[in-house]
Amino acid sequence: MDTADAVIVGAGLVGLSIAYHLVEQGMRDVVVVERESSFGQGSSGRSAGGIRLQFGLASSIRFSQYGVQMLKEFEGRFGVPASFNQCGYLFLTRDPKRWAVMQAAADLQRSLGVEVQTLGAGEVRRRFPYVVMDDLAGATFGPQDGVADPFAMMYGFSRRARELGARIVYGAEVTAITVEGHRVRGADTTAGPIASPMVVDAAGPHARAVGAMAGVAVPVDPYRRAVYVTAPTDVLPRAMPMTLDFETTSYVRREGESLLLGMSDPAEPSSFDTALDQDSLIRLIEAVTRWAPSLQHTSLMRGWAGLYEITPDHNPIIDGAPTAGGELPEGFYIAAGFSGHGFQHAPAAGRALAELMCGQAPFADLTPFRWARFQEALQPEPFVI
Ligand SMILES: Cc1cc2nc3c(=O)[nH]c(=O)nc-3n(C[C@H](O)[C@H](O)[C@H](O)COP(=O)(O)OP(=O)(O)OC[C@H]3O[C@@H](n4cnc5c(N)ncnc54)[C@H](O)[C@@H]3O)c2cc1C
Repeated sequence: MDTADAVIVGAGLVGLSIAYHLVEQGMRDVVVVERESSFGQGSSGRSAGGIRLQFGLASSIRFSQYGVQMLKEFEGRFGVPASFNQCGYLFLTRDPKRWAVMQAAADLQRSLGVEVQTLGAGEVRRRFPYVVMDDLAGATFGPQDGVADPFAMMYGFSRRARELGARIVYGAEVTAITVEGHRVRGADTTAGPIASPMVVDAAGPHARAVGAMAGVAVPVDPYRRAVYVTAPTDVLPRAMPMTLDFETTSYVRREGESLLLGMSDPAEPSSFDTALDQDSLIRLIEAVTRWAPSLQHTSLMRGWAGLYEITPDHNPIIDGAPTAGGELPEGFYIAAGFSGHGFQHAPAAGRALAELMCGQAPFADLTPFRWARFQEALQPEPFVI
């Protein structure tokens, strides 16, 4: 029987980041098992590549800080450019209550060293004239935020992980996880069984099904999210931040000569459906052209949909022995439920989980990401799109 120090289920951004960070920590016999024929076939290949420091929880901010730092150093560290463009993120709100939450979050972000500006309606009109929102309550602008290339990140992680000894097995599905006496013993795959004391659930939108294989309820549900790209256009500035309307969750940013737009449709039920939906597209166009009316003069060129993997509080689950305190089977680890933030948080999630698995203290506080928190009062992430 094949053996490994750790088996990681899923070669998305999160699984590959864990593999890279584990081998960097010195663990050699790491196997990533992916049922598709290459990486990026799940959510990670559909991501819009946004990364921001504007979050409401200190741990999430620290996760983004690690991601930003890694993206700045990416080419030197991984030999591949990640096309990181720190164009900034501009969050807009019409809701005075939400504005108060955003201002408090900005204070927290600043206390952790993040550069963030709180802007009134006049300043938004002056600096970002394409935004037409008469009832704007306020906005926050994070100049260090930006966008990068998810495929470059996956390629960089998998290349370095392999160079350092990890194996990435494509076209093999994990079908069972063996647990004996509350201890993980390995995984069955369609390419054969692997004996291992550690198995990681990094299966993205399928994390619930993989958790069930170990008898663990993993509250992650899939929701379709679509993004669209316009034909090349000059209706919005060449240099503009990712601009988001909190109330409708509609957003737009530059994608080279084109623009990229999207929205989290509140009418969307949980499903594994990734077909584009015309009604949802109409709701997006109505929402985004209301506050960015010059978009009426663009045409759409293409679009795609993928799955967000959402938890009840929109925070990920990053946990396993020993922090789980015996609640999870010994050797079973979870890194899933990134709720639309898995590109930007994959670097830090990989580092923190690898540290946990190697018996070290994680670099960031994982308390808000514990698996058992769902029995308690939740602290939902306020910056959710
Ligand atoms: C349209 C869209 C836009 C987004 N934009 C952003 C953004 O701007 N910024 C951001 O931070 N995030 C964004 N996200 C979210 C981000 O893409 C995800 O959070 C992230 O990709 C999750 O990565 P993952 O590795 O957990 O999951 P995945 O990439 O889905 O990887 C999981 C892998 O597990 C495999 N798998 C599942 N079950 C098994 C099994 N039994 N055996 C073997 N393999 C298995 C799957 O095939 C899959 O490849 C976006 C998502 C979408 C859909």
